[in-house]
Amino acid sequence: MSPGSGTAPDRTHSDLLVIGAGSAGSVVAERLSADPDCSVTVLEAGPGPSDPGVAALTDDATVLPVGAASPLAARFATQLTDNPARVVELVRGATVGGSGAVNGGYFCRAVPDDFAAWDLPGWRWDDVLPHYRAIETDLDFDGPSHGDTGPIRIRRTAEIVGSTALFLQATADHGFAWLPDLNDGAAPGLPTGIGPVPLNIVDGARLGPGAAFLTPALGRRNLTVLARSRVLRLRFDGSRAVGVDVLGPHGPRVYTADRIVLCAGAIATAHLLMLSGVGDAATLRRCGIPVVQHHAVGARCSDHPEWVLPTTWVVEPRRPVLEVVLSLADDLEIRPYTGGFVAMLGNGSAGRPDWPHVGVALMKPRSRATLRLVSADPGVAPRIAHHYDSEPADVARLRHGAEFAHEIIGTATTLGEPAWSTSQHLCGSVPMGAEHDPYAVLDERCRVRGVDGLWVIDGSVMPRVPSRGPHATTVMLAHRAAEFVGS
Ligand SMILES: Cc1cc2nc3c(=O)[nH]c(=O)nc-3n(C[C@H](O)[C@H](O)[C@H](O)COP(=O)(O)OP(=O)(O)OC[C@H]3O[C@@H](n4cnc5c(N)ncnc54)[C@H](O)[C@@H]3O)c2cc1C
Repeated sequence: MSPGSGTAPDRTHSDLLVIGAGSAGSVVAERLSADPDCSVTVLEAGPGPSDPGVAALTDDATVLPVGAASPLAARFATQLTDNPARVVELVRGATVGGSGAVNGGYFCRAVPDDFAAWDLPGWRWDDVLPHYRAIETDLDFDGPSHGDTGPIRIRRTAEIVGSTALFLQATADHGFAWLPDLNDGAAPGLPTGIGPVPLNIVDGARLGPGAAFLTPALGRRNLTVLARSRVLRLRFDGSRAVGVDVLGPHGPRVYTADRIVLCAGAIATAHLLMLSGVGDAATLRRCGIPVVQHHAVGARCSDHPEWVLPTTWVVEPRRPVLEVVLSLADDLEIRPYTGGFVAMLGNGSAGRPDWPHVGVALMKPRSRATLRLVSADPGVAPRIAHHYDSEPADVARLRHGAEFAHEIIGTATTLGEPAWSTSQHLCGSVPMGAEHDPYAVLDERCRVRGVDGLWVIDGSVMPRVPSRGPHATTVMLAHRAAEFVGS
């Protein structure tokens, strides 16, 4: 899938440009190219699935191929906490399928209360449920909550073994309810109890939106996917987005379109907007970038803070990384990871200690992250800070979660000291919102306010991170919002 070897002639003007073929972009490109009269060009910075070695890395769901040597990961520094400053690495998937091609396979829906909090027309539970259903085929459950014809197959682990079984045993005495279907949406909020994680993993193989949506559409004559093609900035004619500057395998190119959809993920989408003159006006001027539209891009992102505690359990090889989760009343999710973090990330484990960890994640954090432009050079990453310790109530809940983890599993394993971490779920850098909301960069139909011909559809658009991992919700929202661009 390199330029010139795509399924359609390489064209420089299209009806529609999709920037980024990640979790959302794969769905958007498939939906919009279903109309044979609409020419769609997708520009993806990373390699395509037919590049040597990519499929072997993305198919195996027991490894997250984002380790030090991975060709499929983009890396960014973030400051997790301010006092003291803890700087860690964020990773994003950089290939067709995006982060959804390299992630843990937890494919759990948000809950109705998450959408009630968004408070946006067209995004109530009743509006989104048909799209959650349309993207999936649930192999375990049917009925009105579940899809049976969607491209992403969902299965839960039936045979629980190893450290996950020890975790279940340890929790059994505490009387938690068994929640067989975390995707049923029956309760408005997060239910309390323990249940198997809905996974987009079947028989050890990860099937993300790139493989499930985009790859099957590659034969369409109106769809061109250009891999290894990095968009550097958008071009505007007045307030209308008309094209992009791209650095591809054959050097710099300009692609133009009638409509442009940014799907580069929460970090790169915000970065591209700011590089192109859409962002905080004072910062843009300081960086020498002409202002197209002032917006609070990157001002109120959110992510799930996580404390990780090493156990003394033995790694159970070749398992999905997370098979059950325990949800507690104060928005905490306790995660018994099956693998050690070294091997899980494909870094090998020879000679290095590597135990399963237990994660304590806060699913409705108050803290907000920031993502700021520091240079007009597209090669200079934005400055990211999670400010996880900025809300004492968040820190208190995490501490409570870690103490609770000791209480429930402390007799079954020796838990080490908790370390600050992140769930890698950054969202909300370019949020939708009401017209009077000063932070709302987008309207409720994902259009950039004050700009014509430009939509954002990816994890950036969520007003706050959902109270479950964001992947299922990102894919759902791409399916829903593609309608806004097509109409
Ligand atoms: C290691 C890891 C594990 C995770 N595990 C889970 C999990 O188990 N469950 C869960 O719910 N969530 C998980 N997440 C989060 C989830 O995968 C992401 O939130 C989701 O995939 C984001 O989708 P997206 O479409 O917004 O962005 P992405 O899927 O990241 O897609 C962005 C795409 O744009 C491309 N791109 C970026 N910049 C440019 C540019 N300038 N030009 C052209 N293309 C560009 C990228 O290469 C990428 O393909 C995980 C994330 C990571 C990183």
